[in-house]
Amino acid sequence: MNETPDLHHFLSDPKIVEHYSLLEEVGVFAHIDSLNKEIRDYKDLLDGAMDIFNRTNIEEIMDATVRQISDQFLPGFIVFLWKPHQNKEEITIKGYQNYKNVEISLKIESITPFEAFFQTHPKPVNFDLLESQTEAATTFSTLKQLKPELVAPIMGPSNLYGLIIIGHRMLEKEYTPRELTFLEELMSFVSQAIQNHLHYEQSVRDVKTGLFNHGFFMTRLMEEIARTRRRDDISSLIVIDVDKFKNFNDSYGHLAGDRVLECLAQTIKGSVRTEDVPSRFGGEEFTILLPSSNRDAAWLVAERLRNSVAEMEVPWEPPLPQVTISLGIVTFDKQAGLTADDIIKRADAALYQSKEQGRNRSTVWEPSTPEHTEN
Ligand code: GH3
Ligand code: MG
Ligand code: MG
Repeated sequence: MNETPDLHHFLSDPKIVEHYSLLEEVGVFAHIDSLNKEIRDYKDLLDGAMDIFNRTNIEEIMDATVRQISDQFLPGFIVFLWKPHQNKEEITIKGYQNYKNVEISLKIESITPFEAFFQTHPKPVNFDLLESQTEAATTFSTLKQLKPELVAPIMGPSNLYGLIIIGHRMLEKEYTPRELTFLEELMSFVSQAIQNHLHYEQSVRDVKTGLFNHGFFMTRLMEEIARTRRRDDISSLIVIDVDKFKNFNDSYGHLAGDRVLECLAQTIKGSVRTEDVPSRFGGEEFTILLPSSNRDAAWLVAERLRNSVAEMEVPWEPPLPQVTISLGIVTFDKQAGLTADDIIKRADAALYQSKEQGRNRSTVWEPSTPEHTEN
């Protein structure tokens, strides 16, 4: 195989030395130099892209992006404007200086005004240039207080995901066209990483409540069964069902019912640890998978949640009556050797007991708990 000689080897070749001045005159060395720079840029870009693609949530994608931009350009500051929910206007603003988070007071309520501009110019732009373009100037004037040098869009397939606002650099004077191209390419990787993340989230979340969906819950339950066996650990499952919810819908309407389910989901989220898996099992039924939690721990979570729900305020006009929930709890470990279906059946049987005994209560499955067969 022909090995590509390195530059040093190449320059020590007597034939090259003989024609050195000619080669230099026609710019061969300068060209090699520039190609080498280009290779280095692509290598940096590839490293940056790998770093960004390895992240699993938006916060981490933002932090990795900031690190890439900071390493490359050493800017005075970076501000991220980000629209966390596709169907809501609300935006998140994060400021960074020297790789660290800093407070930013910027009065911007929406990124929509910027969208029209970037849809026709989907590239990083120089802020001074924007200011001199009268049409875009008013849109961008809200960013002026930051004294930015560049504004880079993160474009999704049909809309603007966010903006990265970059300050003047600390060492060199201006951003070169080559650097702007680098930034543009980096932004396309950021956009792709965000798209992947959004698609993943859409595939594991329930749209109405934002909790995990049935499919994700089943996958995690099976993983948890395998983990408890491997580690000889004990875990729990809580199933939750809203009491007399059909009556509630009949009396107050489906929209009010939906609002209750959204608030209930928030209350569930607020009462679990990060490692727990709160899901919407279907309809008005929810589950919480509690890794490494025994019967007592699960009971505490269930009862705390039941009490929070009984006190939960659902914003609605006219005010709605309180709703209550019934819960069924089951634990599983290596010894019990249960399948996912066995576990769900037991939790269901315990839930049915709670309903039978008057609702608004929690029941832990016992060997004496009658099987629940009807649906
Ligand atoms: P129980 O205490 O025995 O659980 O009584 P229930 O009325 O809650 O039980 P049932 O299973 O008969 O009814 C569940 C009701 O939940 C029926 C349906 O109208 C309502 N429901 C299920 N999913 C949704 C939803 O997404 N939104 C609304 N508003 N209601 C829902
Ligand atoms: Mg039900
Ligand atoms: Mg119900």
